[in-house]
Amino acid sequence: MENLFRALPKVDEQIHILKKEERFSDMPEEMLKNAIRESIAQMRTEIGQGICEEGHLADFLSDFSNRVWQTYCLQTASTLKRVINGTGTILHTNLGRSIFGEEVFAQVKEVLTGYNNLEYDIEKGKRGSRYDLVEAMICKLTGAEAALVVNNNAAAVMLTLSTLCKEREVVVSRGELVEIGGSFRVPDVMAQSGALLKEVGTTNKTHQQDYESAISENTAALMKVHTSNYRIMGFTESVAVHELVFIAQKHEKISIEDIGSGVLVDLSAYGLPHEPMVKESVEAGMDVVTFSGDKLLGGPQAGIIVGKKRYIDKMKKNPLTRALRVDKLILSFLEASLKYYLDESMAIQKIESLRMITEGPKNAERKALFLLERLTKIDAGLHLSVQKTKAQIGGGALPLTEIDSYGLAIQEDAVLLEAFMRNYEIAIVGRIEKETYLLDMKTILDKDLQVIEQALSLYGQKKGED
Ligand SMILES: *Cc1c(COP(=O)(O)O)cnc(C)c1O
Repeated sequence: MENLFRALPKVDEQIHILKKEERFSDMPEEMLKNAIRESIAQMRTEIGQGICEEGHLADFLSDFSNRVWQTYCLQTASTLKRVINGTGTILHTNLGRSIFGEEVFAQVKEVLTGYNNLEYDIEKGKRGSRYDLVEAMICKLTGAEAALVVNNNAAAVMLTLSTLCKEREVVVSRGELVEIGGSFRVPDVMAQSGALLKEVGTTNKTHQQDYESAISENTAALMKVHTSNYRIMGFTESVAVHELVFIAQKHEKISIEDIGSGVLVDLSAYGLPHEPMVKESVEAGMDVVTFSGDKLLGGPQAGIIVGKKRYIDKMKKNPLTRALRVDKLILSFLEASLKYYLDESMAIQKIESLRMITEGPKNAERKALFLLERLTKIDAGLHLSVQKTKAQIGGGALPLTEIDSYGLAIQEDAVLLEAFMRNYEIAIVGRIEKETYLLDMKTILDKDLQVIEQALSLYGQKKGED
């Protein structure tokens, strides 16, 4: 073993040798040194573990340059990287929820690669407010008097309750005490905000009378929470938005709604079940409505609060707002996304999640047939077929809705293939259905097709060699 340790490459020698190789020639010296040191340390460990034995030493050393290159690539690779979504879940919380279209991206590039008027009033030539930038647009789209944008919807709910309901009671139906998106739990957010939760009704039924009798001197607000990611079926009853507003107004209490996804277009016009729209709640007289920016709205992660000006103004003055404030990245992506909503036909083309939801199955079928044809032509040696599938919206919206789609089904060892695809240079995430590996084309982008073709043909080749 001593011989092996002695034979290990030396850092200073290797720098000179490797620098002659094209791929290392432009690499900063410190980075190259680091990669060499790290590679030598790896080899030392492998010798210690008996992985490198005397007979293999020559191979071990001749591969040194590749090892340094891989180490360098690993050291400099991004940890947040592109993934191909073949799951058919459009708003996939694990895969980054809503995605941006190229055109939204092109709009923000110019703003973000230079200085901007984030807090500068260009007309007056003095300090401005970052919140003014998108407020007018949000008001126009929702019919609200005022609006405020914070980090996410959880923050929006927290800020609302903390500003308007601290140390006072907020009445919520037991059927709406939901947990959403991993760790958003209504009772916990309520506790954190300092408001006191007053539960009314039962899991499946809550009546107007339940709210009425819960109201007291110490009640600050009545709150409605959209049960975004689940449905109670069968014998159920809940109080509608306009009814809750009516009761709140009668008792001079504030009405608050956490509407979740924040849809700005009427999905029922596209053959989907009706998802409550922000505009409807505002029109019904809800004092404050909160929703997410990166669910059905299809923008960046954000929490949008809309409602009566006197309440939003109070929130703007709450010191918590400073801690929850959004930066120029969020504001520019949000504005670029919202612009399309000024014309609904544009929104359903340019907002990627809306496009996928509304466009029908033809586009998915086209992508599946394209891959089938290409892989058949190069004779990839795989058992392929195009299948009808059901895609999902995800992101805690319309949990029962299935969207017609097409997928490429690959009849191979599903577990092996799944792992191979996931570990491909650009990770490809599919789903296994009845022991068949399936890539749902609803969420596959055109730029993904070539990568999938390469990955599958490589898998076919490897299988042929075994
Ligand atoms: C998704 C959701 C939230 C959490 O929103 P984030 O933007 O993920 O913080 C809160 N309430 C409802 C009703 C939701 O659907």
